[in-house]
Amino acid sequence: MPDKSRDGVILVDHPLIRHKLTLMRRNDTPSNLFRRLLREIAGLLTYEVLRDVKLETVTIETPLETMEAERLAGPKLCFVSILRAGNGLLDGMLDMVPSARVGTIGLYRDEATLQPVQYYLKLPEGMAGRLTIVVDPMLATGGSAAAAITRIKEAGAKDIRFACLLAAPEGIKTLRDAHPDVPIYTAAIDRQLNEKGYILPGLGDAGDRIYGTR
Ligand code: URA
Repeated sequence: MPDKSRDGVILVDHPLIRHKLTLMRRNDTPSNLFRRLLREIAGLLTYEVLRDVKLETVTIETPLETMEAERLAGPKLCFVSILRAGNGLLDGMLDMVPSARVGTIGLYRDEATLQPVQYYLKLPEGMAGRLTIVVDPMLATGGSAAAAITRIKEAGAKDIRFACLLAAPEGIKTLRDAHPDVPIYTAAIDRQLNEKGYILPGLGDAGDRIYGTR
């Protein structure tokens, strides 16, 4: 799959992803189709996010003979979903790697301080040894992603990647400044944020569009 990599940002812009993303952006795309497309794109993103993961050799029996074959080497991957929209990406990633462990983090924005406040965190054991993929469809201000990754590092994770569908330049800068060791995989980089923190041209509120709550 072709990708463009620059300054820790990997643009995964395969034609299939671009086509599906156009359908997702359309205002008249209903929730059931939006969810399905997000899941499909998540699978395609996973392909690129995990391009360099380690394999190990095992001896297996085919119906015809014995062979040395490859399988993913442990320890298991961990996907961490940032609630609630992250769960839309998570499903497609789990389709690709059903054996991965899953963590969940919930954050809300304090209206007074505008800082992300954590209200939920559940991570698997042994984060220090896992490759951790943090997922949220929209990298907008970058505040939630940066805060989530700080918590995940506090739990011991060292090898972390961030995967999203759309990124704003503002969010990329915030996340790269806070965590320069964490590469960002995105299907598109949009123009800017509006005054309410929505990505332009974007696709609206990803959580509302996934769950039909708008
Ligand atoms: N979160 C969303 O769901 N959409 C945006 O445009 C920005 C943040």
